[in-house]
Amino acid sequence: MVGADSVRYLPHCYSLWRRRGYRMNPLDNCMHCGLCLEECPTYLVSGDETNSPRGRLFLMRAVENNELEFSDIAESLDKCLACGACETACPSGVPYTHILEQQREGRQSAMARLLQRRLLSSHLGVRAVGILSRLGRRLGILNLIGKLGIQRLKAMSTAVPMHPQRFRSQPNQTWRADGELRGRVGLHVGCANGELFGDVLNDTIRLFNQQGFEVVRPPQPPCCGALHSHSGDSEFGRELAQTTMQAFDGELDAVIVAAAGCAAHLRASGDSNKPASKAQDPVVFLHQRGWRGNPQRVAMRATHSPPCHLRNLLGEDQIVTQALAQLPGLELLTLNEAEMCCGAGGVSFIRQPQVAAQVGDRKLDNIVASGTECVISGNPGCLMKLSADLRQRGLLVKALHPVTVLANAFSD
Ligand code: SF4
Ligand code: SF4
Repeated sequence: MVGADSVRYLPHCYSLWRRRGYRMNPLDNCMHCGLCLEECPTYLVSGDETNSPRGRLFLMRAVENNELEFSDIAESLDKCLACGACETACPSGVPYTHILEQQREGRQSAMARLLQRRLLSSHLGVRAVGILSRLGRRLGILNLIGKLGIQRLKAMSTAVPMHPQRFRSQPNQTWRADGELRGRVGLHVGCANGELFGDVLNDTIRLFNQQGFEVVRPPQPPCCGALHSHSGDSEFGRELAQTTMQAFDGELDAVIVAAAGCAAHLRASGDSNKPASKAQDPVVFLHQRGWRGNPQRVAMRATHSPPCHLRNLLGEDQIVTQALAQLPGLELLTLNEAEMCCGAGGVSFIRQPQVAAQVGDRKLDNIVASGTECVISGNPGCLMKLSADLRQRGLLVKALHPVTVLANAFSD
């Protein structure tokens, strides 16, 4: 029973709790040192403290203290790309992206939330978006939309790839391994890859089969929920992630996710029955298992621009760089500020096209300075943003997924 004596000790317990670093409110962990500022792309391009992690945390605290309304800080939070770079620099372990997700929770308009739920959680909805995007690109309608002068529409229309491909497969389809069987993996399709980057998924299957892995594709939700969580509907996003993982047989060696943003979301949302760690980037999985066979010579100058989720949230970017570096003939060039976001930030480039364009410009300047003919990045959102920016500058540099480069190198 809790009596007066127990209550007397509570302040001491709280003091000990705080001294050991376990703060009651994660916002309290920020000691305002500013070490995160130089890592933050939106601060680097604006020089404005309200567009920095420290500034945003300060504003969130002001809302908690009733000194500001949420509407006063909404724009500052909206401009955040949720890239997680600040977390990698923070000596105090501030879980910034988690705090941001909590702050954004429920702030979407009811209409936007309903539309997103309906469109992205039904196969029909995702299919309709895919058909409209592909038709719009083929008929030139997206080019016309881009010229209307409405920034958000322009960002959305230019991001659709020039040659979008739908992934065609049957539920429960299996692709047999070449030669001696080394294992069995599940293929996560996803909304963007499934409707626009079917070629990347086909390259993923080709690469795994070459490497001796059978690939299965069980029926699964059309979207893993990453976009929902990013937009402030994290409970729904988590449910979709768990339903996605439950679709895969527990005996599989891994669930292969050729989209770093989705892999990070599936890992973060795992339930106890389906180990979330099974959601794996394809190149990371194969590099850790060891490559089979000798790759062909790849005569190309390339640079690796790792997706933020792969670097900052999964911490696996160097594994992909190592996998690419093994390819004979591939000249892997250093990319200045490789760790910096390309400006995609999930759907941030549509919601905040101006800041996304500024961040994207800086990335492109670095790509041009590297002297590369190809930029490699393992996430559909990054490929869309990088390709669109490269096209708009009239550059002939290609943007490729690492599985495409590796599948070609290991093909017979
Ligand atoms: S998540 Fe990225 S954009 Fe947002 S505050 Fe952190 S470093 Fe800046
Ligand atoms: S590095 Fe961490 S503790 Fe320092 S200002 Fe940034 S968020 Fe706060």
